Amino acid sequence: MIPPKTHAALDAASAALLLAAPTALGWPSRVSRPLSALGLGVAAYSVLTRYDGGRAPVSLSEHRMLDAAQGALAIGLALRERDPVIRRTVAGYGLFSLAAAALTAPKGAPGLSVEGAALPIRNGDLVEVAEDVAYMRLAIVNVAFIGKAGAADRGWLLVDTGISGSGDAIRAAAARRFGSARPAAIILTHGHFDHVGALRDLAEHWDCPIHAHPEERPFLDGSRRYPPASPEVGGGMMANLSPLFPRGPLDVADRLRDLPQGGELPAVPEWQWIHTPGHSPGHISLWHAGRCALIAGDALSATRQESCYFAATQRPELHGPPAYFTPDWAAAEASARRLADLRPEILVAGHGPALAGAEFKAALARLAENFSSVAMPKHGRYVEGAFHDQSS
Ligand SMILES: [Zn+2]
Ligand SMILES: [Zn+2]
Repeated sequence: MIPPKTHAALDAASAALLLAAPTALGWPSRVSRPLSALGLGVAAYSVLTRYDGGRAPVSLSEHRMLDAAQGALAIGLALRERDPVIRRTVAGYGLFSLAAAALTAPKGAPGLSVEGAALPIRNGDLVEVAEDVAYMRLAIVNVAFIGKAGAADRGWLLVDTGISGSGDAIRAAAARRFGSARPAAIILTHGHFDHVGALRDLAEHWDCPIHAHPEERPFLDGSRRYPPASPEVGGGMMANLSPLFPRGPLDVADRLRDLPQGGELPAVPEWQWIHTPGHSPGHISLWHAGRCALIAGDALSATRQESCYFAATQRPELHGPPAYFTPDWAAAEASARRLADLRPEILVAGHGPALAGAEFKAALARLAENFSSVAMPKHGRYVEGAFHDQSS
């Protein structure tokens, strides 16, 4: 990461170069004019930037995107230029800008290596992790099935519904495991877009209710959007892209039911739900005390979800909740501790492969113990005590 003062100095030098150099070098107006415009642009957004990480008027993450955009514009200009010297110089400037934009991206929370703890999984495979739990990866997110294979009609539960377009894959997996038996309900760990993609489709197909925590209701009955994403948390391209992710509101009020207050769940009496807020206010996890099996939704992640590379390859790493969508880190830490105190033997998180074994158990204890250094990003609108900004 480039220190703020160096970054500001580089921006000032870029603006000055773009404005003065083309004229000083006697370059024709076809290049000097667009480069001057670019220089004015850099000067303008740099003046408006809070390099110390503040938000208004231009945040550092918006600034990074502008740095990258003007670098890309310079490269575009170079590609259309016939003079080889001008071409090379302008392209060099553009590449330098892109590299600087990449270098200024913050690192994100380190997480913990759990390479040996992951159960192998391929996209679309239904994997049984215990007699009455199976899960399936759908591109970047998991869904889970609670109930023994061959369970009776209304005798099993679906947990979350993947990204939009996942309906057919989930129906096919359910048919393999339960035949024509329908679920008693769809349980939502929370209502983020990557967990509710096929929700309406499946609830209607099976004519079943949707159960969620009462504090998640506003995001599921059409009354509220989730708070804005925080791309400043860093960690990779998913974080950069997060302002583009849908934040609702979704409206499934006609089928939505509050979870029973005592922690019990329909159809599977050995399982209970646990309130694990932080990533979202009504986030829940699911727990089987006899098997020490935990379905944690996004209260924990088994891969570095802020990174496109990790999200695509599902490389195992134990993390806290996906950082760009987590508005309350104090609550997220308390939830991670609560889950670690259960001492689970098996974890199915919302993202990443299922984890089990001694390496996983040690990593979860360490994550809960050192949450702020292992799982929390250093930067972000919700990190520096700014828990109040919940507006959309
Ligand atoms: Zn989420
Ligand atoms: Zn998620």
